[in-house]
Amino acid sequence: MLRRDLLKSIAVGSFFAAHPQFLGMASAAQAERRVIPWQNWSGVESCVPQVKSAPRDLDELASLIKQAKGPVRAAGSGHSFTPLVPTEDTLVSLRRFSGLHSVDAEKLQATFGAGTRLGSVGEPLSQAGQALHNMPDINKQTLAGAFATGTHGTGQMLGALHSHLVALKMVTASGDLVACSREHNPELFDAARVSLGSLGILTEVTLQNRTPYKLKRRSWVEPLEDLLARLEKLGEENLTFEFFLIPFSNMAIATTTNETDEPITGRPADDDNEGVLELKSLRDKLGWFSGLRSWLINQAVKGQGEEEFVDVWWKIFPYEREVRFNEMEYHLPAETGANVVRAVRDVIEKKHHEVFFPIEFRYTHSDDAWLSPFYKRASCSVAVHRYFEEDFKAYFADVEPIHWAHEGRPHWGKIHTLGAEALSKLYPRWQDFLDVRATLDPSGKFLNDHLRHLFGIV
Ligand SMILES: Cc1cc2nc3c(=O)[nH]c(=O)nc-3n(C[C@H](O)[C@H](O)[C@H](O)COP(=O)(O)OP(=O)(O)OC[C@H]3O[C@@H](n4cnc5c(N)ncnc54)[C@H](O)[C@@H]3O)c2cc1C
Repeated sequence: MLRRDLLKSIAVGSFFAAHPQFLGMASAAQAERRVIPWQNWSGVESCVPQVKSAPRDLDELASLIKQAKGPVRAAGSGHSFTPLVPTEDTLVSLRRFSGLHSVDAEKLQATFGAGTRLGSVGEPLSQAGQALHNMPDINKQTLAGAFATGTHGTGQMLGALHSHLVALKMVTASGDLVACSREHNPELFDAARVSLGSLGILTEVTLQNRTPYKLKRRSWVEPLEDLLARLEKLGEENLTFEFFLIPFSNMAIATTTNETDEPITGRPADDDNEGVLELKSLRDKLGWFSGLRSWLINQAVKGQGEEEFVDVWWKIFPYEREVRFNEMEYHLPAETGANVVRAVRDVIEKKHHEVFFPIEFRYTHSDDAWLSPFYKRASCSVAVHRYFEEDFKAYFADVEPIHWAHEGRPHWGKIHTLGAEALSKLYPRWQDFLDVRATLDPSGKFLNDHLRHLFGIV
């Protein structure tokens, strides 16, 4: 509601009504894409695999892997922006390895098929008397896909999704089913929690959960500098905290969530998509007239109140993201957040008047998975986005060095340009991971070109 009111009040008229040909182009592009066998959510990655298979059981999966000649890659829901999934040989979907398999009520643990989408976790888990500790921005990802890239939500005391894994099973290059946990095969467990899908195909995962809870979400608009001045405090005092800086406004939309016993109010429909389209429309009309653009946005922001609502955890965490984009997100030492956000804002205001997507800021607790971007480091994350039909390269190329200067680690599933040399310096257990990978998959059955580049394997 708040965001819709805020952004709708930017009086720029209806872009789509004035430009019907734009809608025509979108549907033609969609029609074209239908002939491509696999593509990711934004359309920036695609491939035409020789074999595309959704095995029914472990035997089928094992023989598929054993028979494959070229790279075997698992696809989750295709929500990564980096070319982790593409293969010209064998593409595997774990959609038949899905759903809640078992619960341990005493330990508050639950075992799911690895291909279960996050959106199918909340209800059955709640009915079983359990809840996830945290969730990312959306709930379309599969569990295995989310773990593979270190997918996170926000919260200084809340770890990324994989930090709640207590055990997993996967089929390796030899076709064997291997299990690991902190107690059993602990080195493999440290490597496999965040593996970019390079060690094997995950089939089953067990999560450490908590008891179900309700959340109160509060959103408000505040000048960026006021927010940055109390960033740490906001992070410390709330279960989750995040903000979106609106480009060319110096204003940010902040959101916190906290546990509550208050009655459920229900959740209003998400307004972010309309808001982003309004910002796009404003960019399209005013582009380089940054003074007028800023004035209009600031006028719209003035006088906006705050918004609060209460619902169960799995209805509060995820948003709907209907406006497609490509994204770069880096994870940084938590204390560098304010300076990084200011530097990104400056780059946008000086060089990138085409930018209209808000800049996203979140916190994540540290963990100890070897390739976790949060490995032994309390982190904040700063993300920039570019509309899916527009070229992101120049914008992202100007932002990325800011992250490098602050020892940023890239989100594995979001666009970045780092290769083996730089990555090996950012991850203390890098070589240990490579050793485990080489032992499990000496012929590189799970490696596509992107993974070879990341790991420095020719
Ligand atoms: C709109 C949108 C919002 C997003 N929001 C967030 C967010 O809030 N926080 C965040 O951290 N990220 C976010 N992401 C990124 C996303 O969470 C990650 O890229 C995630 O990895 C996608 O999961 P997926 O199921 O789509 O996997 P895919 O993108 O299909 O695959 C990702 C990786 O997982 C591997 N994989 C998939 N299944 C298996 C398996 N069974 N065994 C082994 N490996 C497997 C693949 O091979 C690949 O390496 C967002 C992305 C989009 C498009």
